[in-house]
Amino acid sequence: MAQANPDNTGQPGIVQAALFGLCPRCGSRTLFDGMTKFASCCRVCTLDFDSYNVGDGPAAFLTLIIGAVLVGLALWLEVSVHPPFWVHVLLWVPLTTAAVIWGLRASKAALLAAEHQRRAGEAGSKDVREP
Ligand SMILES: [Zn+2]
Repeated sequence: MAQANPDNTGQPGIVQAALFGLCPRCGSRTLFDGMTKFASCCRVCTLDFDSYNVGDGPAAFLTLIIGAVLVGLALWLEVSVHPPFWVHVLLWVPLTTAAVIWGLRASKAALLAAEHQRRAGEAGSKDVREP
């Protein structure tokens, strides 16, 4: 079992940070500066969010999961109810948009919080061991 990092006392957990867009250091709702864009730094504690790199993992992961789930649901609806086409448009377009935006926010915030808690970063020249 992992031991708690004493420096993490008072910081939000990964789930809380992901669900509410919380700064991983102070817990303020300052992580996002747009729908899915990180702010450059926390307005309360000045934690530099630009120094973290969550990469493209959340976008690719969400595309696969959300796409599979929503296509499955659309096929199930079509086969079982066979609604008119406009019902599909009214149902799946907003649902897909909302799922992608919410999913991106939550997954990006979770990755940034995990990166902060574990002090993870990109490997640099100082990390390379000499033989
Ligand atoms: Zn903060």
